[in-house]
Amino acid sequence: MSHDCLFCKIAQHQIPSTIVYEDDEFMAFKDINPAAPVHLLLVPKHHVESLAGVEAGDTDWLGRMLRLAPQIAYDNGCNPGSAGGFRLVANTGIEGGQEIAHLHFHILGGARPWDKRAAPAA
Ligand code: AMP
Ligand code: ZN
Repeated sequence: MSHDCLFCKIAQHQIPSTIVYEDDEFMAFKDINPAAPVHLLLVPKHHVESLAGVEAGDTDWLGRMLRLAPQIAYDNGCNPGSAGGFRLVANTGIEGGQEIAHLHFHILGGARPWDKRAAPAA
């Protein structure tokens, strides 16, 4: 745990968040400033600064984290099927737009009424 890290504190329940998923290794919670109808953040509970810092020994938990993303997306409002879906974003570093230096996947989805190819609203 990094003591000054917001997402470590959220993962340790020291700062409240709207948690949508939790297990021993990972937590997903709602983004406080959503940029889509569904906007979740998926984080490892242990502190890793960004994708830039991952190494060969990280592939197992990274694989599990990646595998969790669609499950969490579809359990929390992203529409199924090819007309639904979601966006997975990992901002990395300053020029990558990363503001919080704890690795996180943005999971973005939900209705896009302006996109005529998208799933109809529920
Ligand atoms: P990034 O720019 O990729 O580092 O994204 C950081 C994200 O964290 C932004 O989308 C923020 O809205 C979000 N955020 C910041 N503080 C909180 C918080 N306390 N709870 C939930 N999301 C947060
Ligand atoms: Zn952290």
